[in-house]
Amino acid sequence: MFDYHLHTRVSFDGHDTAENMVKAARERGLKAICFTDHMDYDPASDVQTMCFDLQAYQREYALPEIPGLKVCRGVEFGLLPDNRETIRKDIPKYPYDFAIGSLHFIDGIDVYYPEYWEGKTYHYAIAHYMDEVLRSVICHDDFDVLGHITYLGKAGANPRMEPILRKDFREVVDEIFKVLVAKGKGIEINTSGMDKCGAFLPDGDYLRRFRELGGQIVTVGSDAHHADRVGQYCREAAQLVQEIFGYVCTFEGRKPVFHKL
Ligand SMILES: [Zn+2]
Ligand SMILES: [Zn+2]
Repeated sequence: MFDYHLHTRVSFDGHDTAENMVKAARERGLKAICFTDHMDYDPASDVQTMCFDLQAYQREYALPEIPGLKVCRGVEFGLLPDNRETIRKDIPKYPYDFAIGSLHFIDGIDVYYPEYWEGKTYHYAIAHYMDEVLRSVICHDDFDVLGHITYLGKAGANPRMEPILRKDFREVVDEIFKVLVAKGKGIEINTSGMDKCGAFLPDGDYLRRFRELGGQIVTVGSDAHHADRVGQYCREAAQLVQEIFGYVCTFEGRKPVFHKL
């Protein structure tokens, strides 16, 4: 089994060492993992506090080879509709195996927190996020999969904390998927929604539609920021991907690897 979305203490909001995360991955029988620390450009701040330090990253992941467990090194870029050049400049600085592109900020506001939701209807808050995701995937090329498209389902300030259904955002989701397919990009199933809103981010309905539109690449990740969440629900998520696509993807050297389970 695979977990391709993990944060260690290298991320501003991570807690555990790489060693502890690897130990947890081995205990849970995972076959491959990828560290994907935040490189998130907080547009409201001059100080890039949400970007990891590359030297700290290299130190943390200078791990010995582990028999039976493939350990890859990736990054989670914070996409904005206008930061293409920043990412283009940062991505060659390290030979990453994998790059997730995720949207966490809109108009300088962290969408996880109440400020984003204030003054918006529930539907508009999510539709606006989806529109920004669409603008971002049109703008960007330096990423491999779109992270947690239904991220707002688990946002702390979401007044409902319920799954975001595709039927309510059908058109924009189709547009996002069509752009991803045209660019040869994938999506991830992020399992961190299970405990927060009772659904994968996104759920199987989105996956089926992605496949219908020609999507081929799907990864699975827990988005764990603590060792005790490494691999959580990844088996279930991989089973779902397997049912729909017949395989699950990991990445090595920015190239997809297709696994039949
Ligand atoms: Zn994220
Ligand atoms: Zn993450």
